[in-house]
Order: sequence, then C-alpha cells, then structure tokens
Amino acid sequence: MRQEISAGGVVMFGNAILMLEKFNGEWVLPKGKVETGEKLEEAATREILEEAGVKAEVLKYIGKINYTYEDTWKVKECTDKTVHWFLMKSRSLACVPQREEGFIDAKFIHIDRACEIAKYDDEKGIINKAVNEYTTKDRQDVK
Ligand code: ATP
Repeated sequence: MRQEISAGGVVMFGNAILMLEKFNGEWVLPKGKVETGEKLEEAATREILEEAGVKAEVLKYIGKINYTYEDTWKVKECTDKTVHWFLMKSRSLACVPQREEGFIDAKFIHIDRACEIAKYDDEKGIINKAVNEYTTKDRQDVK
C-alpha cells in the first residue's frame, strides 16, 4: 500500500479557527504533504501559507490521524495516510483561499461552529484537542 504523510494546523485567532471550503462544499482544516527533508512543522506552516495565505506560528504538536483512501481516477490504489497536526496561531484574520489548491473559501470560524461544519470526525477530534490545549497564555503571548 502507498504511504503518505501530511501535516496541518488548527490555526487560532482568538476564539476562531481557520477553515477552508473545498470546491465540493466540504469544510476542512489546512494541511498538505510533507516534502523530502522538510520538518513536520515546516510543512504545516508552508501549506497554510500556500492554501490560505495565512502566516501562522506553531504553538505545539497536537497529534496525528490516520485514514486510508482509494484513488479511483488514476490507478486503483489504496493509500495509507497519516496527518500530523499542530496547534498554531495567526496574528491576523486576513486570509485568501487559493483556488489553484482547490479551495473556494477560507475563513476564521468560531470554535463551536468550526466543529459543527468540519467534514471529518477525526478533524473534529483534532479541533477539540487543540482548543483544550489552547491556554490563556497562548492567546496573550507576543513574541
Ligand atoms: P493533502 O492535503 O494532504 O495534500 P489531498 O488533498 O491530496 O491531501 P486528502 O485530503 O487526504 O488528499 O483526500 C484524499 C481522500 O481522503 C479523499 O477521498 C478525502 O475525501 C479523504 N479524506 C480526507 N481527509 C480525511 C479524513 N480526515 N478522514 C477520512 N478521510 C479523509
């Protein structure tokens, strides 16, 4: 089975989380494949910039999720995928969805609503974990 490793972020601004809307209407967290020689957190930071135009900084590692999917339009092949997630923060609400990356909207959405609209249950779990780890100190720290 093919293996794939990606990294992404739960990017906070106050009580809101950065979410992306795909062309098919699904709302997901920003993430992408880790390139050769790249650290997980570098990949997460780069993907968030590429997909949403948001410069985010890493606060801490949250955990990983695992799923398998079948590529139906190319070779019929199964991929075993692991996605590593970081709690991150942005200093601005500005974001620009990158259409060439497959996204039609990018928004900071209130924590409760973000959990409701997130397409995948494992991403809902990651959002909850990130919110629980997001301390008052994380909100206030200015570097
Ligand atoms: P990446 O953003 O890491 O470059 P991608 O856009 O190439 O990835 P995925 O988002 O992993 O690909 O989607 C591949 C398949 O896996 C799709 O069919 C998608 O619906 C499914 N999928 C995506 N995220 C999850 C998830 N969290 N849980 C289960 N299935 C998922």
